[in-house]
Amino acid sequence: MIDIKSMTIPELESFLTELKQPKFRAKQIFSWLHEKRVLSFNEMTNLPASLREQLKENCTITSLTVERKLVSQLDGTVKYLYRLADGQHIESVRMAYEHGISLCISSQVGCKMGCAFCASTKAGFVRNLTASEILEQVYAAGRDAGERIGSIVMMGIGEPLDNFDQVMRFLELVSDPNGLNLSHRHISLSTCGVVDRIRELTEKDLQITLSISLHATDDAARSAIMPVNRRWNMEELLDACREYTDRTHRRISYEYALISGVNDSRKQAEELAALLKGMLCHVNLIPLNDVAESPLKPSRRVAAFQKRLESHGLTATVRRSLGGDIDASCGQLRRKEMEERKKGAAES
Ligand code: SAH
Repeated sequence: MIDIKSMTIPELESFLTELKQPKFRAKQIFSWLHEKRVLSFNEMTNLPASLREQLKENCTITSLTVERKLVSQLDGTVKYLYRLADGQHIESVRMAYEHGISLCISSQVGCKMGCAFCASTKAGFVRNLTASEILEQVYAAGRDAGERIGSIVMMGIGEPLDNFDQVMRFLELVSDPNGLNLSHRHISLSTCGVVDRIRELTEKDLQITLSISLHATDDAARSAIMPVNRRWNMEELLDACREYTDRTHRRISYEYALISGVNDSRKQAEELAALLKGMLCHVNLIPLNDVAESPLKPSRRVAAFQKRLESHGLTATVRRSLGGDIDASCGQLRRKEMEERKKGAAES
């Protein structure tokens, strides 16, 4: 069966030609799927019944089931645990900001990257998401909120650049004027530093915001907590980042999760400032989320670290921690769900 929600308008046109249907139906179908966002072919009332039948025979419309929805009592942050058609689970987090709703979405079921502090990777890697599964997280959250999603961050489960083709397809679909029409300027993509793919992204010259999960100031320290650094070291990574900014003129955001006694000293703040000197960038300091069974603990030096960076002229903000009562940081809910299933299986 064809995953019709992952198809672009030109692809729909050639598919319709195969079905011996007129090409102008492509835009109509696209608009039903991505603008009106219906979940069945029967609702596509301006299509002839014969075409609807052909579509039903050949295609599926991806949808996600909300398996659990948690609402934070602290700040209204909403976390969705979605079930995919094959029974796998992913998460999205909806956050309210003064300028609108932002949604943090997943790009893979699990993750291969193995970062020491991250819950998503601990539950293992299963598969890539399709473009339609990435997209449907946005549509489903918008439906549930009754409001348009104004910005997207690709910082949920998975490494987006390890699922490059589907993520690029998603970026094309989500910004299509015949669909959600969300500007790339309202989308951030976060990567642990898959340098080859950053270079490929540079070639595409998109206006998205690139976020780099840096978390360390030298190769030994970074390789110890982020295995990807053993493949591409910090010099290669920062070179690729400079090329990205030269090409796109976009400011890069560096993520730095402060871990007690690991990367939060005054000396490391100085080193970070030196590394980023002269780059068009912004530093996002993240208070580490405590992950079960991890020996890594949150730093108590967040404000001091920020001040030190600012004294060198860097702009650094501390990420507001949202949804602290609902396991809002990525991967934690999926992990719990998997553990409960395991327990359930062991008991029965
Ligand atoms: N794979 C991508 C995107 C997913 S992670 C990446 O690595 O960037 C989104 C962000 O959350 C990354 O900056 C990641 O390093 C960070 N992160 C993961 N676990 C965390 C934790 N326990 N506390 C704080 N930040 C964490």
